[in-house]
Amino acid sequence: MVALAQTENDAAGFADRLIIHSPGSGEKLGEAPVMDAAEVQAAVARARAAQVAWGALSVKERCAALRAFRIKVVQNADALARAVSSENGKPLQEALTHDVLPFCDLMAYFEHRAPKILAPQAIHLHFMIQRRSYLHCVPRGVVGVIGPWNFPFSIPIGDAVMALFAGNATVIKPSEVTPLIALKAKQLWDETCRDEPRLHPDLIQIVTGRGLTGAAVCTSGVNQVMFTGSVPTGKKVAVACAERLIPCVLELGGINPAIVTADADVERTAHAILWGAFANSGQVCASISRVYVARPIAERLTQRVVELTASLQQGDPLNADTELGAMTFLPQIAIGQGILDDTIAQGGRVRCGGTPNGRFFPPTVLDNVEHGWRITRDESFSPLLAFISVDDTETAIRCANDSDKGLMAYVFCGDEEHGARIAERLEAGTTMVNNAIDSHGAPGTPWQGMKESGLGQVHSAQGLRDLCQVRHVQTRSWVPWLTKELWWYPYSPKVYGAFLQVMRVMWGGGPLDSFLRKVGK
Ligand code: NAD
Repeated sequence: MVALAQTENDAAGFADRLIIHSPGSGEKLGEAPVMDAAEVQAAVARARAAQVAWGALSVKERCAALRAFRIKVVQNADALARAVSSENGKPLQEALTHDVLPFCDLMAYFEHRAPKILAPQAIHLHFMIQRRSYLHCVPRGVVGVIGPWNFPFSIPIGDAVMALFAGNATVIKPSEVTPLIALKAKQLWDETCRDEPRLHPDLIQIVTGRGLTGAAVCTSGVNQVMFTGSVPTGKKVAVACAERLIPCVLELGGINPAIVTADADVERTAHAILWGAFANSGQVCASISRVYVARPIAERLTQRVVELTASLQQGDPLNADTELGAMTFLPQIAIGQGILDDTIAQGGRVRCGGTPNGRFFPPTVLDNVEHGWRITRDESFSPLLAFISVDDTETAIRCANDSDKGLMAYVFCGDEEHGARIAERLEAGTTMVNNAIDSHGAPGTPWQGMKESGLGQVHSAQGLRDLCQVRHVQTRSWVPWLTKELWWYPYSPKVYGAFLQVMRVMWGGGPLDSFLRKVGK
């Protein structure tokens, strides 16, 4: 019996509680409170108080302390994976390898590198050489993290620990669809704090609720917001942050193209597209949804993907050999079904899959599709994969870029260098060549969207620095006989003329100008 209780969670407002059922079994898993604006503000105040001591620690000390949480997560990895799978409906193996494992890798990566990334950086001054300029990173304070339901552990908890590495405290608003896993993470955090005195339980706050609770996070006095979710909500978050002049990172939706050239390795490409389209039942912001394939290999590739799709095991998410589980969020099934119906009505051919059965949406391959149809424009966030045959790579690039989103793109190509040249022309935050969706698992690389897919980035050295105020300090060596700079008062025609002369000599195209450009001044 499929539970429909998530529809209760769609109701607006702060009233009542969130009631969570497992998408796979329908079993009731638990409840969570719907927190109002006052409760969110109280959470921010607790986080702010705890941040003072945390932010005063050196980055090295923070990294040493956070190590204890990473070890605690590894010790509880199986339980966490089971909790993710139960609440989200994704296969157990994906819960482990897409949520828990990358989180641990992210922590290990920044534990080792954060001290160097956040160390003061000298700026070489080209003229004012008696001065010393440097940048230093100061924690922002309290970072609000608002998360989606598709990666309910790795995204919100991963964003939160990035904020902690940078010296901030965090207030996490998990999705109303999957709040229990965040509460479980908080329980592990609190347990870790008992054994590691440098960690304070209040550094991580969880505020559960629906959209209004998320909106309250943006207006609660936090110093930055890290938001992952849909484009319409992301725009609301951006407006709320703009009104308070606080920075926000927005990680939003995608409708991600793959380009397959005629010399691509059909077998590897078929396996990559299969996984890239159907992992987490297509509920991945980076899912491959539209494939522009060179006409000479189109049928061979489509047929191979269809054969591989037929062998996928869909069923109880908690079975270790299940490859596709249940859809997480009931309204998403209707969105996918609507896009599927539209495609069929326009002449698209279903090669395998089709109509959902309760919460289980079969992996569905379509061909005979034309660029411009809704399936190539709207994010279905369901296991729908469209093949579009094209005559040449230029057409494929044009179609791939013809989108208001720009999260991920993929190129499958026999020649890696040629693939990289195509990749550089694609309007996406990340383009992978001969690979699929997992670059989020490489914490050293930026995760970012172009166009309506987002603003800013998470992960990477820059993503960590962005969680700090990067302040500039400039000092000047004391030269006793120089009591003032030349451009200070008093002003006079003589000084004015001297500056004009200096400008002509240095930048007016004469010999000193050429020399200075040569030596890089
Ligand atoms: P959503 O926008 O419906 O909700 C995301 C979060 O925002 C939830 O916690 C929700 O309660 C909260 N929220 C709702 N209204 C709000 C408001 N006015 N102010 C602040 N917060 C508010 O998104 P979703 O359905 O949970 O997630 C699916 C979407 O997320 C898809 O579009 C997917 O592509 C995208 N996504 C993007 C990435 C990425 O890294 N780019 C990763 C995962 C998911």
